[in-house]
Amino acid sequence: MIKKSVAIFGSTGSIGKNALQVIAQHSNQYQVTILVAGSDVKTLVKQAKIFKPKYVAINDEKHFFELKKELADLEIEVLTGHKAVNDLAKIKVDFFLSAIVGIAALIPTFNAIKAGSNIGMANKECLVAAGDLMLKAAQKSGSKVLPIDSEHNAIFQIFEQQNLDKIERIILTASGGPFLNFSPTQMENITVAQAIRHPNWSMGAKISVDSATMMNKALEVIEAYRLFPIGREQIEIVVHPESIIHGLVDYADGSTLAMMSLPDMQVPISYALSYPKRITIKHPKLDLAKISRLNFLAPDTKKFPALKLVKEVLEADGNAPCIFNAANEIAVAKFLTGEIAFENIVKIVAKTLDKIPYQKISSLEDVIEFNRQAKAQTH
Ligand code: NAD
Ligand code: MG
Repeated sequence: MIKKSVAIFGSTGSIGKNALQVIAQHSNQYQVTILVAGSDVKTLVKQAKIFKPKYVAINDEKHFFELKKELADLEIEVLTGHKAVNDLAKIKVDFFLSAIVGIAALIPTFNAIKAGSNIGMANKECLVAAGDLMLKAAQKSGSKVLPIDSEHNAIFQIFEQQNLDKIERIILTASGGPFLNFSPTQMENITVAQAIRHPNWSMGAKISVDSATMMNKALEVIEAYRLFPIGREQIEIVVHPESIIHGLVDYADGSTLAMMSLPDMQVPISYALSYPKRITIKHPKLDLAKISRLNFLAPDTKKFPALKLVKEVLEADGNAPCIFNAANEIAVAKFLTGEIAFENIVKIVAKTLDKIPYQKISSLEDVIEFNRQAKAQTH
């Protein structure tokens, strides 16, 4: 059997590692051909030795010599720097996993789309900032964009294209993050350690903080708007602390379809990887009797102002989502280094949105420019 070629951009992160675990269970079907990471050279070396791809690249040039030395005995082309990363994405593969965190994934993902590779889209920031451009480019090149973010993956699985006019709304579930039950006073003294400790999911630092502010869900509302042919007012959020139902679609005949799984990113990763077929993965099965109860509640937009802000951002559209995302990336980085308090993350994002006038986005260059402006003005 001819193996499917797989490129993993962001292989040393939480999504990248999960994807490699899935692929390791199906090494007769998939061949990893490209591995790309930011700066975690130790993990990248280990992965390269196991999966023996054709190309390995590390964005941070500081680690190039160590990477090259460690992989010297293998037939692997070793590269470094963002140009190398961007260029590697131009190589057409059967499956390109977009799992670099943040807007840093923009150019590689765009290049992969233009090359006609099918995309497993874990990264949400690029869809928020440049989703329309990306999906248009995908239409042109014939590349399929398969959502991996669990909620969007769930909705993708239950979204009946043939009944588009009968879809009334889609519902994204939110765990509520680690501070769901915190009092207003507790919300004032949040530490980094508390913010990155998610109750249900083990994820990278940036998305963990986003889950704690619920900015993650705000970004996901825009992500959903980009991915599915529905109106802004048809996207809703319900808080569901157990993270068992990931997404729901309401149909006009009163049916609501829901997609369930244990909170494990290997589920949506496998779905995207093997689409339109399914593969077997070794993981604990959902036992509803054991879980016994599923809870649902309305989101608290007062406590989590990102959920209110996103409505304005989506209404404005144009450069607003790009600014929203860029400002958040900077604010989160500042929180992680102790420069700003947790409660100021979303306030700073709102302030940045006010500083930059509305404009339409019509090219990748526009996205890069508004991202740059917003990042420079986030303080
Ligand atoms: P992470 O921080 O654990 O990993 C990020 C990866 O990107 C690492 O491999 C890092 O080396 C690489 N990277 C960072 N900057 C880079 C650069 N400039 N060039 C090349 N590589 C670079 O993040 P994660 O939790 O795996 O999340 C990855 C993406 O998937 C994010 O956009 C996140 O929103 C999305 N996502 C993650 C989860 C999850 O469960 N972790 C769920 C849904 C969506
Ligand atoms: Mg999600």
